[in-house]
Amino acid sequence: SASSSKPAGDNDSKAPLPKGVVLDKDGKPCRTCTSVASWRALTKQADLKSANSNSTSSPTSSTGKMTTSTAGLAAAATASPSETPSDCPPDVEELGRSTWTLLHSMAATYPEKANAEHQANMSGFLKFFSKLYPCWVCADDFQAWMAHPSGRNQPKLGSRKDFGWWMCEAHNEVNRKLGKKEFDCRLWEERWRTGWKD
Ligand code: FAD
Repeated sequence: SASSSKPAGDNDSKAPLPKGVVLDKDGKPCRTCTSVASWRALTKQADLKSANSNSTSSPTSSTGKMTTSTAGLAAAATASPSETPSDCPPDVEELGRSTWTLLHSMAATYPEKANAEHQANMSGFLKFFSKLYPCWVCADDFQAWMAHPSGRNQPKLGSRKDFGWWMCEAHNEVNRKLGKKEFDCRLWEERWRTGWKD
């Protein structure tokens, strides 16, 4: 989780990192582990730092054009999250929303009664998914949750109902960690398979 990640300020630069910025295992900021808002704060901080390290306080270069860093700073100061271009690399939230869509849709199209091969395929997928998910702090926590020593969080793969419920519980675990509202798992099929009842 963001809380179990490396703390802000544990990097090379002297200024503490903005709140919510998560570092990668190599000590560099991890974009797919960080929200757009925190990422903006980080780029703003970097732009301010490079602007301060320039000898003149002028926002223009000797050619009279805006420097790249100043232009970046201006953009960071004026853009709101809703203006984020859709063709930017995903932040932790966009990646998460897209991934939950995939995962719940896999549950929605899972067989009503799954045979041994189907169960083994899904089990393998979840095992690799939980290791390869691009936000490493998310992946670490998800793996730890699945591997709870009691065995209670192991994927339930016998049927669509069981698997969909399990996926909903997995998602709720992350919702709780992030302080979000829990989803009523009795409604997972309406949300992800049949559509809402009128
Ligand atoms: P999301 O949580 O992405 O949900 C999308 C939609 O799913 C909701 O609008 C709702 O309609 C529906 N939904 C919500 N809860 C449930 C449920 N329990 N069952 C079924 N449907 C539901 N982010 C972090 O900052 N830190 C983490 O450690 C982290 N770990 C993650 C681990 C995994 C495996 C994944 C896939 C994502 C993780 N995320 C993490 C991202 C996070 O879960 C959210 O996707 C992100 O914060 C965006 O949230 P959201 O409010 O837009 O809705």
